[in-house]
Amino acid sequence: MKHLLFALMLVSSLHAEAVPDKLVVLTFDDSVASQANYVAPLLKKYGFGATFFITEGFEFLVDKKHYMTWEQIQALHADGFEIGNHTRKHAGVAKQKPEQLAADVEFIEQQCVKYGIPKPLSFCYPGYQTSEAAVKLLRERGYQFARAGGAQAFDPTKDDLLALPQAFDGKPDSTLEQFKTAVAQAKNGKIAVMTFHGVPDLKHPWVNTDPAKFESYMQHLKDEGCTVIAMRDLAKYLAKK
Ligand SMILES: [Zn+2]
Repeated sequence: MKHLLFALMLVSSLHAEAVPDKLVVLTFDDSVASQANYVAPLLKKYGFGATFFITEGFEFLVDKKHYMTWEQIQALHADGFEIGNHTRKHAGVAKQKPEQLAADVEFIEQQCVKYGIPKPLSFCYPGYQTSEAAVKLLRERGYQFARAGGAQAFDPTKDDLLALPQAFDGKPDSTLEQFKTAVAQAKNGKIAVMTFHGVPDLKHPWVNTDPAKFESYMQHLKDEGCTVIAMRDLAKYLAKK
């Protein structure tokens, strides 16, 4: 009996939990004020996890009506949500010099530390553009996950964890049917990573999601019995390579 117990402990320490079907990651880009005012309270009602990818790009510094304050970002962390890094200036990483990118990544890390938020483990590529140099830099800085663009489920056996794809990208003309199709891909070891911007997003109408539509998406996740997590929570399902 003792030996069996030891063997079981050994096995569980070597293998991560299997990826369940209907595993969904929610991500929100660009530090939009509606994420603090509307999205977070709604997700709390549903008991869903999520990652908010923070940048000081766009009009973050001057327009505090449409962009979150760091106090609001701090409150998201206090509420149990993940704060991820979306770079200081929201520049495309492929066009940046390594030292520029490093400085923009480090800046958000330092802001997090300043506000009592853990150094981010998750990253999101501005404009979804990746580069080999950026992947290398993120790896060296200890990042575990980085989301790019795309339109397919994340397959941990094939995709790079530092350039993983999104299954859904919330746009004004996105439909509940499209969202359901993305959710349905979360099976057989694959995970559906969902991207949103503001709900609503008044400053970037081309990535706007209307609150009523967003609510129908969240209700679908609940009705389907999905496991809805932040990006960092993927760690427990993925064995170290
Ligand atoms: Zn962005």
